[in-house]
Amino acid sequence: MKTDVLIIGNSAAGLSAAETIRKHDKTKSVTIVSSEGGNAYSRVLLPYILRGKLKEENVFIRDNNYYQSNDFDYIEGKVTSINNKEKNITIDNNYSVNYESLLIATGSSPIKPPIPGIDQDGVYHMWTKSDMEALIPHFQSGKRVAVIGSGFVSLQAAWAAVSKGLQVTVIELANRIMPSVIDNKGAEILSEKIRSFDVDLRTETMTNAIEKQPDGSFLIQLKGQEPVAADFVIVGTGVRPNTGFLAGSDITVDRGICVDEFMQTNVEGIYAAGDVAAGPTSFGDPHQIHALWPTAIEMGKFAALNMLGKKIPYEGSLNMNVTQMYDLTVASMGNFADESGDEVHLIPESQGMGYMKVCSREHRIVGACLVGKTSAMIIFGMLRPVIRQHKQVTVDYMNLERDLQKLTYGLMH
Ligand SMILES: Cc1cc2nc3c(=O)[nH]c(=O)nc-3n(C[C@H](O)[C@H](O)[C@H](O)COP(=O)(O)OP(=O)(O)OC[C@H]3O[C@@H](n4cnc5c(N)ncnc54)[C@H](O)[C@@H]3O)c2cc1C
Repeated sequence: MKTDVLIIGNSAAGLSAAETIRKHDKTKSVTIVSSEGGNAYSRVLLPYILRGKLKEENVFIRDNNYYQSNDFDYIEGKVTSINNKEKNITIDNNYSVNYESLLIATGSSPIKPPIPGIDQDGVYHMWTKSDMEALIPHFQSGKRVAVIGSGFVSLQAAWAAVSKGLQVTVIELANRIMPSVIDNKGAEILSEKIRSFDVDLRTETMTNAIEKQPDGSFLIQLKGQEPVAADFVIVGTGVRPNTGFLAGSDITVDRGICVDEFMQTNVEGIYAAGDVAAGPTSFGDPHQIHALWPTAIEMGKFAALNMLGKKIPYEGSLNMNVTQMYDLTVASMGNFADESGDEVHLIPESQGMGYMKVCSREHRIVGACLVGKTSAMIIFGMLRPVIRQHKQVTVDYMNLERDLQKLTYGLMH
């Protein structure tokens, strides 16, 4: 089989690329390959389904007619190798597809830490639709779950369990939660709130083993502490880009697949986008992974435009996390961890947004962090273009919303 455009991945980055190609070119053949069967769905919605806020069928983001109506060929199968010299891929070690141009949008997969007992039935990740389907029967009131890890996805899983009336223990090796999403102060506030929901949150706690008991439940053995009893376990200790099938190709991988501002890899005609790609950031870093849904969509779009030969550079990704958990809005954007040299502006609690901090550097706003109220998201929305423009600004942080409104207007006109 031969196709003009071959896209590996049927999610945020892959679909954004396929749709951009089709918008600009009605004639090119487009083939999408995906190792996960069925219609495209959103990983972002999985915690909402576990919480019972959405029905299982709401996870899908494209319908049954989608591929046919857009004239996309769809192949279910796992890409096992790429031969960039011959310009073809092999699927399931079995059959090959030739391409003119290729987009790799294979996302990432959960890391499995070397904990004895991690490979047993009853120990899950929360990453795919099938993980969610396996977890749903366990989400019954009164059950006990141990969540290992306290990043964005783990704490969402824990929050879903709390919402459904489960007894939750969160076990974290580091001395604080969510390091890539909020700063130290935000982590303290959120930890206190999590504990107020009767979650047994343990930081600086090492999991030694996950032991199955004769009744099918688990004992989580901890270093220097009494073990924790659980009916099932969720492990969320980070993710790794899906690049294993690139072994033997000439494509440069440095954790993620390295791409330039056109989303092209070091091999001409091969592009990468989304969680698998280490690309330019808004702050000028050449190769960073921002594993976020909106970033995957942006990268997919720019990859497609450049696969069509339009030579349009991507302005670079800006990390932005927003979630609601434990009755708080938790959000961050850009560089919020106040590195040395940053000016830190704390927005007074009296403004009713909770804990909010904005960081600037030489009068350029570089990041913000919030553990507080949803109302602050108006400010976050206005900060985004200001951070991306890297302009020096004069802002009265005591009247941030008012001044950002003026600035945003100025930036847009
Ligand atoms: C529970 C959860 C909650 C999240 N919440 C948020 C959120 O609130 N906000 C946010 O911005 N982000 C969130 N994310 C992250 C977001 O989902 C990812 O950034 C986004 O899905 C990345 O899209 P992608 O297209 O790069 O990769 P993915 O969505 O991971 O898709 C990868 C695709 O590649 C396919 N694939 C992989 N390997 C192969 C192979 N060898 N052969 C063929 N096909 C292959 C897969 O089947 C899949 O179709 C969340 C993620 C999870 C798991």
